[in-house]
Amino acid sequence: MNARLLELLIYSFDVLSILFFLYFLFKAFKEVRLSLSLRKIVDFTIHEIGDGLSSLVGFIHFSIVMGIVLSTIYVCLAPLLMDSFVWYALLVISIPFVAGLFVDIIWRLSILSKNPPILEYLKAQRAFKKESTISHIKVIIIIILTLSNLLLLWDSELFAINSLIFIARNILLSLFFVRPLVNTILNYDKPIHYLEIPFKLRDVSQGKVEIGNIKTSVENINDLTERKKLSLSACLEIGVCEDVCPATSVLRPLSPRVFIRKLSILMKDKPVDDNPFEVIEKDELWSCTTCGACTFSCPVKVRHLEIILDLRRTLVESGLIDRKKANLLSSVARYGNTFSRLNDGRNDWLRELGVKNIDQNPNFKYLLWVGCLSSFDNRQRKIVEAFIKILKKVGKLDEIAILGSLETCCGDPVRKLGDEGMFQELALKNIELFEKYNITSIITVCPHCYNAFKNDYRELGLRDIKVIHHAEFLDMLFESNALSLKTISKKITVHDPCYLSRYNRVTPLINTLEKIGRVRRPKRCGDKTFCCGGGGGNYWYEVPEKKRISHERLEQLLELKPDIIITFCPYCKAMLDDAAQAKELKRLEILDAAELIDGMIE
Ligand code: SF4
Ligand code: SF4
Repeated sequence: MNARLLELLIYSFDVLSILFFLYFLFKAFKEVRLSLSLRKIVDFTIHEIGDGLSSLVGFIHFSIVMGIVLSTIYVCLAPLLMDSFVWYALLVISIPFVAGLFVDIIWRLSILSKNPPILEYLKAQRAFKKESTISHIKVIIIIILTLSNLLLLWDSELFAINSLIFIARNILLSLFFVRPLVNTILNYDKPIHYLEIPFKLRDVSQGKVEIGNIKTSVENINDLTERKKLSLSACLEIGVCEDVCPATSVLRPLSPRVFIRKLSILMKDKPVDDNPFEVIEKDELWSCTTCGACTFSCPVKVRHLEIILDLRRTLVESGLIDRKKANLLSSVARYGNTFSRLNDGRNDWLRELGVKNIDQNPNFKYLLWVGCLSSFDNRQRKIVEAFIKILKKVGKLDEIAILGSLETCCGDPVRKLGDEGMFQELALKNIELFEKYNITSIITVCPHCYNAFKNDYRELGLRDIKVIHHAEFLDMLFESNALSLKTISKKITVHDPCYLSRYNRVTPLINTLEKIGRVRRPKRCGDKTFCCGGGGGNYWYEVPEKKRISHERLEQLLELKPDIIITFCPYCKAMLDDAAQAKELKRLEILDAAELIDGMIE
């Protein structure tokens, strides 16, 4: 056979291996009914580039994708361009991704070395440990093959060997990489708060859906939707979820990576009849604070949190919850608040400060939603008091009104605990109330209420209401120059709440705080913030742990040696306050931004 013919033959096999990959890819698209438009492809590409540039893990994952894409383009162009100037110019583009792939191998090996102690701690079974190691090795092989591919393309003499590597890599990709890719495309535009709701109460009450046809619990892995099952099989054990998880970091019995992989192995081994609770412990589910760091940071967009909430719902529906969780649910069901206190008069104390009820202030512009913690807890009432004082100082008190005894829980804690029905009941009642009073803007004190109104209620029919966090409102006051502030020489550190800064990417008052004092932000800040430990109902119950999450967070903040820690969430403030008290840090001040600003107004 002459050389030219041999080259052509090799080239045909290269192309065949690409087609082989595409066949598997489109088959997976069909399974989850995913259709691609040009707009979606462009949008996805822009999103992936943004993700790739946003962090080291993002970049090393992006390097795998780019390594695969570039090596495929190069191989396709080789017969036309090999050894030309353009060829070498094109190869130069791959250099940063080659570096990324090297770093990726190091990252993988470090996860692999951390694997045994974590799996030991989580009491993972032998079969799981084996599967987990094999999965790591598969990905490492794909990375090494892609890397070799990119490097060998610099030498045209080695094209035949390189083609064999390329074909082997594409076969492995078709078998192991298609599902992660499809999962990424399916979920890249789904925000953390997005939940596939098992039912809509409104549809049930309007008779559009038969109550008997609703399946809310997951007794069998096949009760998960196709989208969530895809998420399970998409996990490449990158391990970044485990790295950022506050529960794992304090050795609670939860690693989001292990959680997903256990279910995925169960699904693979016993696809027909397997109960997820065969491999998942209750405490594993309750260890989660719903901070969303795992879902947010996963490069292949696995939806850990949605699946954790599905399983929590199953426990709640079967009554498999302990007294503290049951008490929280019955408190909200019975009293309409999380404090088991009569709801009547919950905000009477605000009237003494001159705040009017909605029916006494028909010209109000904003509804002030106080929230349960700031309504009933004396320490957290101070946040609202400070906010009211600021409004008085700038002559805007009459622009707000409260619902008084009509205000209830927003429903976030019960939803995150697993009672979807009660959440939707509360949400529909509140939406009705907002419509009745023609409310156009709501100011919330708590990021959990903020997220519920801004995102969760929208899914249930809330329309055209502007939701503003009180710190955002203060930002608006500063923009319109309504306030001027004193300065202090104290060092200030900021704790960003997950439900504000990660869920909603809001990091308020940065410039204002910098005008007041010397602000230093911790490593984990903004959308990469670290939870205080109070979210997802955790404020009301305990789980086994080596250390409290709030203590871990406080220690991270203390590394910056602050005099004042600023928060924007009553739960965060309460959690960090308790941690500071336990550590007897008497000189440290933990304040909501409103409290600091109130004291600084000239
Ligand atoms: S949501 Fe937060 S606490 Fe829960 S598994 Fe993910 S990272 Fe861990
Ligand atoms: S309580 Fe504060 S830090 Fe914790 S999950 Fe909520 S918003 Fe996040």
